Amino acid sequence: VRESGPANGQPRPQKRRVTLTHPDRVYWPDEGITKEGLADYHAEVWPRIAPFITGRPLALLRCPGGIDGQRFFQKHVWRGMNKHIARVKDPQNKTGEPLVAITDLDGLMGLVQSAALEIHPWGSTVADWERPDTITMDLDPGEGVSWNAVIAAAQEVRQRLADAGLGAFVKTSGGKGLHVVAPLVPKADWPAVKAFAKTLAGAMAADSPDAYVATIAKSKRKGRILIDYLRNGRGMTAVAAFSPRARPGAAVSMPVGWEELDQFGPVHFTVKNTPNRLAALARDPWEDFRPAAHPLTVKAQRRKG
Ligand code: ATP
Ligand code: MN
Ligand code: MN
Repeated sequence: VRESGPANGQPRPQKRRVTLTHPDRVYWPDEGITKEGLADYHAEVWPRIAPFITGRPLALLRCPGGIDGQRFFQKHVWRGMNKHIARVKDPQNKTGEPLVAITDLDGLMGLVQSAALEIHPWGSTVADWERPDTITMDLDPGEGVSWNAVIAAAQEVRQRLADAGLGAFVKTSGGKGLHVVAPLVPKADWPAVKAFAKTLAGAMAADSPDAYVATIAKSKRKGRILIDYLRNGRGMTAVAAFSPRARPGAAVSMPVGWEELDQFGPVHFTVKNTPNRLAALARDPWEDFRPAAHPLTVKAQRRKG
């Protein structure tokens, strides 16, 4: 059953059924955003964020005291977890602690109640754990790299994905960089998808060694962009489209159109201005995200990037 939907293409605010304790607790002090404010944000963006956070294992950045307090990156269920949050067993780790998932808006409100300021999904679903439906290429600019250079890197990733027969969509991370995201028809398994992402990153670094690196070594990153392909391993995560970031400014990871990339910096979109953006957009730049999915072909996997 659908909790909600874009009835006429427009997001529709949803009524809340999950009790929030301490709704006035301040999460982003400079912006004055409270727990209730976060719940209102999520109710507003629910039709947009839902496809990226439902039915897949989630890691959560929980900050019970807000962004200036203690924070923990939570990958497993915990004692006293909100009842609207689901427990899912990793089929590869049946004896381990269950993982966290949600299926509906109540689940998302359960995450808010649990002070999950950031939501980080896996690239596969609980319906098909071993075959990812998403590739995320995470572009991490080192010190001194211009925003235009990050955009150019994203365009190059897009071109290389197109050469492999894949569509590519771009979002801000809400931090320093961009994420280029390719929807997949689940077919190739995790090792194949990770190898493909690694080859792509390695080819970019080999072709433009002054601009890109594909290895984590910090020493090499100054003035270059790390093409972080490691988001594409089993059990790895990347922040969800439309998830807020637990950083000053309350930026969100915002899907943008390729043609509008140069109009906004990396932290332009926030919890506060996102509802206006969504209302003003004539067309969702990620409208065709899932329909644009293709399988990773054997031919693409054999390419040298
Ligand atoms: P930026 O644009 O600033 O790089 P980002 O979200 O891409 O923002 P990264 O540091 O590049 O940040 O990516 C880190 C990713 O690794 C997160 O998105 C998260 O999904 C994952 N991750 C794994 N472990 C942790 C952890 N302990 N704390 C935070 N993130 C973690
Ligand atoms: Mn990053
Ligand atoms: Mn990274």
